[in-house]
Amino acid sequence: MIEKKQAVFLDRDGVINEVLTKKVKFVNKPSDLYLLDGVAESIKMLNESGFLVFVVTNQGGIGLGYMTEEMLKTIHTDLKNKLAKQGAKIDDISYCSHKPNSDCPCRKPKAYMLQKLAATHNVDLSRSIMVGDREPDILAGKEAGCQTVLVHSRSTYSYGADVVFQDLKNALPWILEHKNH
Ligand SMILES: [Mg+2]
Ligand SMILES: [Zn+2]
Repeated sequence: MIEKKQAVFLDRDGVINEVLTKKVKFVNKPSDLYLLDGVAESIKMLNESGFLVFVVTNQGGIGLGYMTEEMLKTIHTDLKNKLAKQGAKIDDISYCSHKPNSDCPCRKPKAYMLQKLAATHNVDLSRSIMVGDREPDILAGKEAGCQTVLVHSRSTYSYGADVVFQDLKNALPWILEHKNH
């Protein structure tokens, strides 16, 4: 029997890269992409510890017409290249391109994107971790049966997250403790 793998699912905007900051409002092109402090090093450590690293991101801007799907793919290629330069690797990216409130099957807080990646990559969701900066991330992670980590929160609520940290870098020791060898 092949043992299932452990994964860390990362929300993109507000976890990996800046959003609604002084530098950038929303990421609609590669030049809007500013990695947050310590993200590349953190992802590299997750890679080295044996976690698969996935990005699960709601990109309703496509459904709303602010960005094309081609542009999103360009942004994601750029993101992977930026991270690769620092030795960090994203194993796969899943995105929802549908409008908010369109009741599509995939948009977080639904667990679909996590479940699909788990099926594709033979991941044990119960031993995996979802990291996000907003309530839909935490709800999606819980629905999928993952442990949940809230970072960069602008709210005092934890939305039921298992733990709250300032950012991915600060959450890293807690995440690494959950790696079974
Ligand atoms: Mg976010
Ligand atoms: Zn969707």
